Amino acid sequence: MNPLPRKAGFAETAGSPKTAGSAEDAGRGPLPDYNSGNALGAFLRERGLGIRKKWGQHFLVNPRAREGLVEALDIRAGDGVFEIGPGMGAMTSLLLEKGARVTAFEIDGGFSSILRELFPGGSFTIVSGDVLKTWEQNDDGSPYLFGNLPYTIAAVLMGNFIEQGRFFRRIVITVQKEVALRMAAKPGGRNYSSISALCASAYDIKPLMTLKPPSFYPPPRVDSAALLFTLRTDEKNNPLFARLVRALFASRRKTVVNNLEHFLSVSGILGAGRRSRDCAEAVLLRSGIPPGERAENLDYVSFNALADVLENNRNGK
Ligand code: SAM
Repeated sequence: MNPLPRKAGFAETAGSPKTAGSAEDAGRGPLPDYNSGNALGAFLRERGLGIRKKWGQHFLVNPRAREGLVEALDIRAGDGVFEIGPGMGAMTSLLLEKGARVTAFEIDGGFSSILRELFPGGSFTIVSGDVLKTWEQNDDGSPYLFGNLPYTIAAVLMGNFIEQGRFFRRIVITVQKEVALRMAAKPGGRNYSSISALCASAYDIKPLMTLKPPSFYPPPRVDSAALLFTLRTDEKNNPLFARLVRALFASRRKTVVNNLEHFLSVSGILGAGRRSRDCAEAVLLRSGIPPGERAENLDYVSFNALADVLENNRNGK
């Protein structure tokens, strides 16, 4: 497990050390009314800004849901939180009220300016740009992850963190309900996919709440759902795991031996002269996985066993 930074950060911390909600924060502008879509729209218009559909901008205007989500993260004063897609700061303000140190990743430059104006304290750092491209360089090792995630990047981002071995102690995310069902799915069900196995390899996942469209402004066309991820202590980090899981789900209708054969033939992890079919059969046998099985019936423990055998095989053990 590695919740520690890999590279030095280039994030911008706005202003001098102050905490949101404290007397020191007197310099910040008044917060918009986060419970009212009309008020948020007016707040943006006053600044010559608008709502961008392409970035999945739907603001959580349901105060009980916002409070419930922050409670579920269960943080203490001084804890570091990565917040993805802070928007106009509805969740950020609650995290800062809890005394968290928030590093927020926001793609919309207009929102980044608003956030700097609203939260000038040293507990808040804004990283402007696409989180998929910025998080690694700005990783301060925060142990908590929070976000009402833009639907377009939710699965990619979560897969990316796990694949890079960047684990969080606890995560609370809100995503499109369909994506939540896939993330939390168990083997054998129709929602079980590579992202389910990836998430299960490191975390216990619990559904927190379903959010209907009117909880957001503007309302999205689909339901959303929030999930709580808790890092398991038996989490392993085999570098082959994520590539292997993706490869075995590449063609859902194919058996694992066929998908594995293809993976071995194109991945370059076999030594010269070794036949991928023979090797695929041999490593499945050593992992205790029937060659005719399909990935959708394998749990993360089986994928881990297979990744370990392949890794040992690659190292000549
Ligand atoms: N947190 C706010 C709330 O709950 O009301 C807004 C959530 S809104 C669903 C998603 C936010 O993610 C928007 O502010 C959007 O601009 C931002 N966003 C979209 N794509 C992003 C990306 N690739 N990197 C960083 N932020 C992104």
